Amino acid sequence: MTEWSIGKIKDIKYWANDLFSIILKAKVNNFLAGQFTKLALIINDRKIQRAYSYINSPKNKNYEFYISNINKGNLTPYLYKLKINDEILISKNALGNFTINNIESCKNLWMFSTGTGIGPYLSILQDGICFQKFKKIILIHSVRYIENFNYLNLVKKIKQKYSNQLTIKIILTRNINIDHSILYGHIPNLIKNGVLEKNLGIRIDTNDSHVMLCGNPHMIKQTRKFLEQNKNFSKNLINKKGNITYEQYW
Ligand SMILES: Cc1cc2nc3c(=O)[nH]c(=O)nc-3n(C[C@H](O)[C@H](O)[C@H](O)COP(=O)(O)OP(=O)(O)OC[C@H]3O[C@@H](n4cnc5c(N)ncnc54)[C@H](O)[C@@H]3O)c2cc1C
Repeated sequence: MTEWSIGKIKDIKYWANDLFSIILKAKVNNFLAGQFTKLALIINDRKIQRAYSYINSPKNKNYEFYISNINKGNLTPYLYKLKINDEILISKNALGNFTINNIESCKNLWMFSTGTGIGPYLSILQDGICFQKFKKIILIHSVRYIENFNYLNLVKKIKQKYSNQLTIKIILTRNINIDHSILYGHIPNLIKNGVLEKNLGIRIDTNDSHVMLCGNPHMIKQTRKFLEQNKNFSKNLINKKGNITYEQYW
């Protein structure tokens, strides 16, 4: 049974294309960077609850969530309409194994994300412990348009602190510009055709890499399939270590 706490909305950021972030205050238990919790609202006398990843560092008590407003969704259109000081239910306990605690130390940690799937990585990167555990961290963020990389400034700030260890690669799926620092296409294709590795000068190699995948289920399925069938990667389980850890958002 979920134990609920009543939180209060402290701030809301509205980004382009129905993306938004809510920041709330609540009494909840500690969580691990990368975990998710449940948010809920009472809508027409029913409690509607969904999973959302914490994006703040566990040390920061302003709990932040990065959310996509889904047209005709049961909860997100109501979350989108929340105002500062409104109440929201939040699960007291965090959930999930999408954390670096379950990943063995290795040279390269790859963080692949689509859209709001960057959330858990923002928590892990702000927490900072990952920079002791992995020599290099490669954050790959795929969005439709560059203006959908809403946490670019935060990522740049983290990059300033860990410039030798953190590599960031933006992948755009919709608009085509001639900017050589950005790749265009879809994550699984850019891995399959070797363009991503060539562009970064780093190989996704089972001997020294762990791959994290978060967001769109299609990206996760296709990327896993390629890495498992062609590069000998396997799913990371609690009782059987592998080198792919993933969190599917829908
Ligand atoms: C572990 C976990 C963590 C999650 N963390 C986040 C998060 O940090 N931010 C976030 O925005 N979402 C996150 N989600 C998704 C979230 O739980 C909801 O599914 C989503 O917000 C839609 O809720 P809804 O009630 O508005 O839509 P629903 O009524 O539940 O769904 C409507 C339809 O939309 C589809 N759908 C759901 N999410 C998306 C999406 N992002 N893009 C396109 N189609 C979608 C579903 O297939 C569904 O058929 C997470 C899911 C899981 C399982």
